[in-house]
Amino acid sequence: MTDAPTIFERIIAREIPADIVFEDDRVIAFRDIAPKAPVHLLVVPKTAAYPDVASLADADPALLAHVVAVAKQLAGEHADGDYRLVFNSGVGAGQTVFHVHAHVLGGGLTEGSLG
Ligand code: AMP
Repeated sequence: MTDAPTIFERIIAREIPADIVFEDDRVIAFRDIAPKAPVHLLVVPKTAAYPDVASLADADPALLAHVVAVAKQLAGEHADGDYRLVFNSGVGAGQTVFHVHAHVLGGGLTEGSLG
């Protein structure tokens, strides 16, 4: 028995729409549906094997490095090049989708704020 696909698997499979800004063979990136910053993108590995960033780092550090590289590229294209990279890990930290993803926040963040 397999778990039901997450919302991100359904976006990757084009079963539900998303505002996709980047895609290659390893990752997809799209706008967060509930943005917390003027620019709020999600960079999502296509594999559903990893629920969070630590498991991805353990198993496939090259894929994690690619997620970071794509985040940097997109921050340059969609914001001024500066960005905050967030990986919520665990329910207590606000994680709601258990398919590893990077939040890329940019475009006029409040200086010093973690919010
Ligand atoms: P997290 O809380 O770290 O697991 O992040 C999940 C993120 O996915 C949240 O910021 C949601 O707003 C976002 N999200 C959920 N559903 C969608 C969707 N259909 N399209 C784009 N972003 C979504």
